Amino acid sequence: MKVDVCVVGAGPAGTSTALHLIREGLSVALLDRATFPRDKCCGDGLTSLALRELRRLDALPDHLSSWRTIERAEVVSPSGRRLGLDLRRQPPIAATARRMEFDSFLLERAEQAGAMVRTGSGISDIRVDDSSVRITSDDARVVVARHVVGADGARSTLRRLLTQNTEHRNQRHDLLAMRAYGTEQADVRSDVLRVWFPPDLIPGYVWSFPSGKREINFGIMVNRRHFGKTGQLRAVWDKLSAGSSAIPIDQVQNPKSWPIPSTLRLNRLSDSGALFVGDAAGLADPMTGEGIGQALVSGRYAAESIARSKPGQREGAAAEYRRRISRVLVAEHELSASLVRPLSHARLLDKGLQAVGVVPGAKSFFARWMFEDVRRTSAALPCRWTAAA
Ligand SMILES: Cc1cc2nc3c(=O)[nH]c(=O)nc-3n(C[C@H](O)[C@H](O)[C@H](O)COP(=O)(O)OP(=O)(O)OC[C@H]3O[C@@H](n4cnc5c(N)ncnc54)[C@H](O)[C@@H]3O)c2cc1C
Repeated sequence: MKVDVCVVGAGPAGTSTALHLIREGLSVALLDRATFPRDKCCGDGLTSLALRELRRLDALPDHLSSWRTIERAEVVSPSGRRLGLDLRRQPPIAATARRMEFDSFLLERAEQAGAMVRTGSGISDIRVDDSSVRITSDDARVVVARHVVGADGARSTLRRLLTQNTEHRNQRHDLLAMRAYGTEQADVRSDVLRVWFPPDLIPGYVWSFPSGKREINFGIMVNRRHFGKTGQLRAVWDKLSAGSSAIPIDQVQNPKSWPIPSTLRLNRLSDSGALFVGDAAGLADPMTGEGIGQALVSGRYAAESIARSKPGQREGAAAEYRRRISRVLVAEHELSASLVRPLSHARLLDKGLQAVGVVPGAKSFFARWMFEDVRRTSAALPCRWTAAA
């Protein structure tokens, strides 16, 4: 198969890249080793950033059976103080949709738009020369393209094949999360999105996100730098489940864990002629672990950078892509990274959340800030608190 661009990985980053490339008039092959529908270990939370990108693609999945618009959130401080947030806005600023459905929906959209989709086989080889890229799948099928985009997630095979080493594959990402689905409980309601900061987990947190009709996506996220060994994640999960009602252990099944890459380095956005997007580029937020919006937006930037570069000019596309990520995402990322340390101090976190509850206007701004309805960096500029995102 011969195309303009081969996109490896069909999660949100890959489908967004493919949809934007097609809009730009380019032909696309979209490869994924999984067979869809497939699950992705995730909290399923869609922030404003993700919702804006989906609207831009005319692909808001509000018809899916697992779709929930979130109207209320609750943040629980380390000392147990509860901060209720009203999220009712038009258009909505937070929603959830199960990745099993959500990712399949976006893949269908990409296929309908004209992407040549091949699923069920991973990539096993890549050859790059001045004018083309030749990608071979495990099933021996070959795609020849002018550009290749790596959207194959936290353990990017494309990067490993291109750099011929396992350094990236074995990289220990700072964030690690575990999640499982369960049903509504007396203490954990399915109409409130809840984020809880237990003192021995911060700057990590526990979440319960509404999912589908009366179900809940439960999870914990830990920051390895502040937390120690990863092997302990299951032990923490069991302890939390046994010691509190945050995760009702008898109601949740098969918790799964997966790393969240959140180290944005401009020199890792491209490698040996390929552009990397979403988790493959380490773009998730280092404070919250959100990465769907970042995956969607980076797919758009990569597609537009390729479309605007001269045909086959891979270095030109890479330079433009780095410029766009650097202009829009780097400051947000740096701010989030700088908040990780303060978030690991229980008293500071308690005081901060207490202040949000009492300072006029702060609660409403905090809700929008938390769900990326305003740029996070605007927190330093109160004059922009009411500005539209
Ligand atoms: C437990 C947990 C909870 C999270 N909760 C949230 C949340 O609530 N909100 C949020 O915004 N973010 C959340 N995140 C982060 C979010 O899941 C990721 O940032 C997001 O999925 C990144 O999308 P992506 O398309 O880059 O990668 P992925 O979604 O991982 O997609 C990568 C795709 O590449 C394919 N692939 C992999 N290897 C190959 C190969 N060799 N050949 C071909 N295809 C390949 C995979 O099958 C997959 O389909 C969470 C993460 C975790 C682990």
